[in-house]
Amino acid sequence: MSNPVYSTSAELPKGASPVLPEQLKPFLTLLDDPLGLPVCLLCQNAVLPKSLMDHFRKQHNIPTDIRPYFRSLVSTLPSLEPSDLPSKPHGSRSLRTLRVIKAFQCKECPFIRQDVTDVRKHINKEHNNSAAGNYDEIPAQTWLSGRRAVYWRVEVGTPDPEDPPCVWGFYGTGFGSKTPKTWSKEQVENSKV
Ligand SMILES: [Zn+2]
Ligand SMILES: [Zn+2]
Repeated sequence: MSNPVYSTSAELPKGASPVLPEQLKPFLTLLDDPLGLPVCLLCQNAVLPKSLMDHFRKQHNIPTDIRPYFRSLVSTLPSLEPSDLPSKPHGSRSLRTLRVIKAFQCKECPFIRQDVTDVRKHINKEHNNSAAGNYDEIPAQTWLSGRRAVYWRVEVGTPDPEDPPCVWGFYGTGFGSKTPKTWSKEQVENSKV
């Protein structure tokens, strides 16, 4: 996959990372790839720079005295759009800053959704098949959540020693290339934090 081109990142010298002020370090981190993409440390979702202020005000109700720091940071960030955030290849190692999501993938194609109903409908419609047994439960990640989510399958079985503990609770269960078909719905539910 070719690197995304940031035609709007005139604020940044080529290759330079925007600087995150000390005051904001408990709240977010900035990625190098895609360059300058903020990831919220409170909910582990990427946030488009233009939505940063709204996200932290509405989702996390950050204190008023911190808000000016967000405002000045945003002015130094590239104006990323969802199209500037290419999905990682399926099977990539999970990015440690992003939340790992329990999702479902069609066995016939790379169609992945968090809602199993969407996957079932997809199998019925696109493959003219019954859904039963034709999808896998997989760990996935997405830059953005909600309507703009684009999922890719991740490997969580080989954690980087520098990684923080997995918040999802699937480590050590041999989940890498295998799907936990033996797991009951309760086990899956209980494993979620
Ligand atoms: Zn958040
Ligand atoms: Zn499919």
